[in-house]
Amino acid sequence: MELRKCKNCGAFISSEDDFCTSCANTLSYNHTILKGFFDGAPTNIDSVSTVSSQTGVSPSIVENYMVANNMIDSSTLEKTSFANLPY
Ligand SMILES: [Zn+2]
Repeated sequence: MELRKCKNCGAFISSEDDFCTSCANTLSYNHTILKGFFDGAPTNIDSVSTVSSQTGVSPSIVENYMVANNMIDSSTLEKTSFANLPY
């Protein structure tokens, strides 16, 4: 049997899923929060961290969600990630 690793926390999982049960539940919950947030036509969103601070969802999950929904492209994502590197 091939063991897979959860893409979020790295825990070993034996299913075909990308995430362990715990992370899948968390992600599902966070995506519900984000969907509600964006469906509410929010104003003055200028960055991933703004969304993160307003929803309480971690920035990496916000980034993935926004890329998956074509709200930002991966070049923006890359820039954001580099900007967050602690030098
Ligand atoms: Zn996990």
